[in-house]
Amino acid sequence: MPGDHDAQYASPWAGANFLPMSTQENSRWERRTWPELRRLAVEVPEAGIHLQKALVYRNAKDLDVRCGGGLSEDLFAPEPWYSTFFPDYRKVPASELPPGTAYGHEFGSVCINTAIYLAWLVGQCRKLGVVIKRASLSHISEAASLHYAHEHDAAPANPSSKDDIIVVNATGLLACQLGGVMDKAVQPARAQVVVVRNDSPAMYSISSTDNDPPEELVYSMTRAVGGGTILGGTYDKGNWDPAPDPAIAQRIMQRIVAKFPQIAPRVDALDVVRHAVGLRPYRDGGVRLDKELVDGVWVVHNYGHAGWGFQGSYGTAERVVELVGDITGRTAGAPHHSARL
Ligand SMILES: Cc1cc2nc3c(=O)[nH]c(=O)nc-3n(C[C@H](O)[C@H](O)[C@H](O)COP(=O)(O)OP(=O)(O)OC[C@H]3O[C@@H](n4cnc5c(N)ncnc54)[C@H](O)[C@@H]3O)c2cc1C
Repeated sequence: MPGDHDAQYASPWAGANFLPMSTQENSRWERRTWPELRRLAVEVPEAGIHLQKALVYRNAKDLDVRCGGGLSEDLFAPEPWYSTFFPDYRKVPASELPPGTAYGHEFGSVCINTAIYLAWLVGQCRKLGVVIKRASLSHISEAASLHYAHEHDAAPANPSSKDDIIVVNATGLLACQLGGVMDKAVQPARAQVVVVRNDSPAMYSISSTDNDPPEELVYSMTRAVGGGTILGGTYDKGNWDPAPDPAIAQRIMQRIVAKFPQIAPRVDALDVVRHAVGLRPYRDGGVRLDKELVDGVWVVHNYGHAGWGFQGSYGTAERVVELVGDITGRTAGAPHHSARL
């Protein structure tokens, strides 16, 4: 739950910003999410999201090779699909590019303070009558019997039978260990970051490091409402280690001050809040968004968002509503009991 800090619960560790990572064909989730995140940034200050300019640079050294440290090739493409998506997109003029950069993209984005936003989401759920319980499940079908419809006194709406219950499986990384799911395509993409008090004037992202391993990245973003600046990072598939590695932390900070001295001129001028690790829920083949009958209970799966879970959240949730509508035969979005893990 928000307030907990386990590496396997990815959401609190996220930056989190909106940098399109999908291919154009798979961009529905991001396209459908952007308007809502922008609206929250502009109209709902208590959600903990603000507008921030994004600058995405392609390192000249990686023009002929894979880039993005596993995060996204498409983000760093020379003519990205999102150039026509953001109304304020512009190609960065050569005179403004940092040394060693082949080209760059600039657009207005958002940065989320997850400590505030996740708690705000819980509040929105409470306001809508959602009953929240803490439990560790060994099998997905257990979720159905935890539903409040089985506790008549606590039920804020008319109790339904188990046949009417639909489970939405949003278990992220641990979908690989959950009975009834056991998805072997899911593994961690370990993210190590440094959180500092220094401001990042924009959200910077570079396609590759100059000499460090390909799983290491260069990015920064300043969270809304005093959430500090996140310096990244790594994208290390298969690595479950929740402990920050001091050598990696040094490399993250050295790259940042070398590339973006406007954040801090030297490593010792970085004012560190904490070193942290979160495990992104990576899935071979991409996010799982489908429906399945497990032991007689309908389950709608929505997990495996890797490094784009916030920026694809409203889009994928919209698909969940459609899938629930398919099961019930009702119009998508019609009221129905559901349980979220
Ligand atoms: C450092 C870092 C930076 C990131 N930056 C960004 C960014 O800038 N933009 C962006 O969009 N995304 C970003 N991400 C990715 C994003 O955080 C994830 O995609 C997203 O948080 C996944 O959300 P989720 O709800 O699917 O998974 P999680 O947040 O991991 O939640 C899964 C939940 O399921 C619960 N659960 C699992 N198994 C069980 C069980 N058996 N019983 C009970 N409960 C269970 C867990 O306890 C947890 O509460 C970043 C991630 C990291 C780590």
